[in-house]
Amino acid sequence: SSPRVVVIGGGFGGASCARALRKINPKLQVTLVEPNRVFTACPFSNEVIAGLRDIEAQQFGYEKIAANGVSIVAQAATKVDPQARTVGLADGTSLPYDRLVLAPGIDMRFDALPGYDEAATAKMPHAWKAGEQTLLLRRQLEAMEDGGTVVLAVPATPYRCPPAPYERASLIAHYLKARKPRSKILILDAKDTFSQQRLFEKAWKEFYPGMIERIPLSQGGRVVSVETATNTLVTDFGNHDAQVANVIPPQKAGNIANLAGAADKTGWCPIDAATFASKLVPNIHVIGDAVIGGNAPKSASAAASEAKACAAVVASLIAGSPPERPTIEGTCYNIVTTGYAFSQAGNYQPRDDIFVEVMGSGFTSPVHAQSELRQREADQAQAWFKTITVETFG
Ligand code: FAD
Repeated sequence: SSPRVVVIGGGFGGASCARALRKINPKLQVTLVEPNRVFTACPFSNEVIAGLRDIEAQQFGYEKIAANGVSIVAQAATKVDPQARTVGLADGTSLPYDRLVLAPGIDMRFDALPGYDEAATAKMPHAWKAGEQTLLLRRQLEAMEDGGTVVLAVPATPYRCPPAPYERASLIAHYLKARKPRSKILILDAKDTFSQQRLFEKAWKEFYPGMIERIPLSQGGRVVSVETATNTLVTDFGNHDAQVANVIPPQKAGNIANLAGAADKTGWCPIDAATFASKLVPNIHVIGDAVIGGNAPKSASAAASEAKACAAVVASLIAGSPPERPTIEGTCYNIVTTGYAFSQAGNYQPRDDIFVEVMGSGFTSPVHAQSELRQREADQAQAWFKTITVETFG
């Protein structure tokens, strides 16, 4: 019978990989395991929080992927047996595989920040997986009185989409400036510097003067615990009370990676970067946010790029031919206000267990630029989202 590949997780990584596998070799039996019938994308979800976009613009179904010949199983994977090579499903049945691709994205580490457990997310949303959490944060901002303080707690790296907290602060400021201009945003940051910092800080001065304050790690920015009853964020240097608290907690690979034995003590998955093969479990490949990626960012663009490269590797291994060495691309746009964005991009190649940036491949928008360039990058960001979601979901 034809070789069976099971992919766990129907996000940017898993959905792209399942499609690419069928495209490369239509004889493969490809099954995509994903509990949600509709995927809600994180890129541009900060615009939903700011009231600039409807959540429906973030949502995608799996019909076109099914039409490409991928079997969709609308259930959560609950276990993986690497010896028997089966994936256990929530309804108690199981799926056999020859090769398994894990693309479960992230889970929150509810053991890492005292007070911030699963129940706390209903009071202090993370909104770091898009959907209900995105809408909850939006409603809290709408309900807040003018003059309130919105506090964002940002973790140390590694976490999903390093620049996204700062894009979020910018777009929340966009909303508050128009509707609640006496309000403030406080970023409590568990690191000292962040990506595209000079570009963000310059834009904040220009568009949101005096509205956004950031406390870096060295000045007491790291949140060490939270108290949901009073909406308080605690640091070693003092307490901060929030009208709206957006707590982005430390993260790890989606829990099924741990259940499969593919995550190490860091919580993320070590791989041989040339083949995406797990360093811990045979016949399993890991892609997307779940991997220890080195310089490759935890971004949708990198996840989709890894997905296509991994599909090629898996198809080659099944055919018994040597796989090609992958090059991964990552592009990240940051939107500060309507018609104003900047970006960062790079190419990455495997060096042993991680991806390293290809010398000279990196691009960062200039700190000083005409507004035309920012406008052009805002247009390019929209085009990027359209392209990646069509490529992923059809
Ligand atoms: P996901 O896309 O999260 O997909 C994982 C899937 O696995 C989910 O559908 C989940 O339901 C499923 N899953 C999990 N466990 C199981 C299980 N046990 N069984 C079955 N299925 C399971 N990236 C960019 O490139 N550009 C941006 O502008 C950008 N902006 C962002 C803004 C925000 C606010 C955030 C939070 C992220 C942003 N990102 C951006 C990052 C991007 O969303 C992620 O890097 C990307 O989604 C990673 O893809 P993935 O496939 O690894 O995980």
